[in-house]
Amino acid sequence: MPPWPPCLQPTLSTARRATAFSFSRSRRSRLSSSSSIPASVCASPGDHTHQQQRDNEEQSLVVVGGGAAGVYASIRAKTLAPHLNVVVVEKGRFLSKVKVSGGGRCNVTNGHHLEPMGLSRNYPRGNKELRGSFFTAHGPQDTMRWFTDHGVELKTEDDGRVFPVTDNSASVVDCLLNEARRLGVSLQAGKAVPSVSVTQHGKFVLKVEKRTADLVDYLNANYVLVATGSSQQGYSIAAQLGHSIISPVPSLFTFKVADKRLADLAGVTFPVVKAKLKLDGVQKSAPELTQTGPMLVTHWGLSGPIVLRLSAWGARELHQCNYQGKLMVDFVPDIHIEDMRRILFHYKDQHAISLGTMESKKQPNLFFAGEVLNVDGVTGGFNFQNAWTGGYIAGTSIGTLALTSN
Ligand SMILES: Cc1cc2nc3c(=O)[nH]c(=O)nc-3n(C[C@H](O)[C@H](O)[C@H](O)COP(=O)(O)OP(=O)(O)OC[C@H]3O[C@@H](n4cnc5c(N)ncnc54)[C@H](O)[C@@H]3O)c2cc1C
Repeated sequence: MPPWPPCLQPTLSTARRATAFSFSRSRRSRLSSSSSIPASVCASPGDHTHQQQRDNEEQSLVVVGGGAAGVYASIRAKTLAPHLNVVVVEKGRFLSKVKVSGGGRCNVTNGHHLEPMGLSRNYPRGNKELRGSFFTAHGPQDTMRWFTDHGVELKTEDDGRVFPVTDNSASVVDCLLNEARRLGVSLQAGKAVPSVSVTQHGKFVLKVEKRTADLVDYLNANYVLVATGSSQQGYSIAAQLGHSIISPVPSLFTFKVADKRLADLAGVTFPVVKAKLKLDGVQKSAPELTQTGPMLVTHWGLSGPIVLRLSAWGARELHQCNYQGKLMVDFVPDIHIEDMRRILFHYKDQHAISLGTMESKKQPNLFFAGEVLNVDGVTGGFNFQNAWTGGYIAGTSIGTLALTSN
């Protein structure tokens, strides 16, 4: 335990009393978002008759977005249905987030939360929905097995985070891209899909723009998977195809605290504190807005696992309060009571997409996977696990449909 500064030193009478800090958001690191439902869309793309004739001959899947979810899904679909023509269109570089993730090491998944119920508790957005069959279909153990079977040896660190033994994300990136190429998936980088429409026959027409040249092309597809991460274009495609969007708000950020009492503590880590978010005008007093765990004092305020967790669980409420509020910090928490605490979830159901198949309930043969959905996890490999699981389920559904419709 670090030395206490005079003003924060606990005495017998103050040890259980929380210290209050006013804070604001220090920086944005992620967006949480959602594609929920209504309306249906049917747009005629114009003259694509010749392409429709080709559709009769071969089944095709176009994946929009070559991140973790999109590439994993393309591999799964092509493995199940080798005759399926699979194209992944990526506007930048394939798997660029995987490359930079985990400080360049790629925290692939989490090895301490293997059963679906416990695992789902690590998702501030999506925990209720993910409690069901989602992770049963493809959980962390399946992910680890998949990578190991494909030549990426993994290790689990003490805190549960799983990394390649090489400590280099390139092992994961190379494995996925080599497997996709080996199976015959067409990987098209440097091309963006700004819009998707649906023909009267229920086929998709995707507009594809090549970024470096003034070139527009159209792709026809029987199946479309939107795996665009937190990109605005992905939400716009979802909206074009009849889904309404919950505007994204930042998540996983640290707190800026201008409080003289913290001035001499920059760099000090408190291994276990209990911190509670108090936000003006927010009625909600959810148990998730109180967190226990390590906290780090930085030169601008507070950081560390509990602060990131609070920013994730309170993402919408913090946004409502313009990122101003109070943080009550108990530096000597009653750990026993905390351990006994049962977490209750209060999330509104938004069943726009069937999590059993990842298919839209509004538009047949349209699928979503990964961060484009209103799912985000705390740090520790949970976000990639959402991408692998969603990609796997979508790929399985599309591959199975392609097999049965032949
Ligand atoms: C710095 C950083 C480090 C991270 N580290 C970890 C970690 O170690 N472990 C973990 O679990 N999570 C980590 N995350 C979170 C994780 O990266 C994401 O949850 C995950 O990448 C989501 O995968 P995805 O496939 O849904 O989206 P993305 O990985 O964002 O992929 C979406 C892709 O779609 C492309 N795209 C978007 N719109 C279009 C369009 N219109 N046309 C064509 N292409 C399009 C984008 O260019 C992008 O490549 C990290 C995030 C960041 C920012």
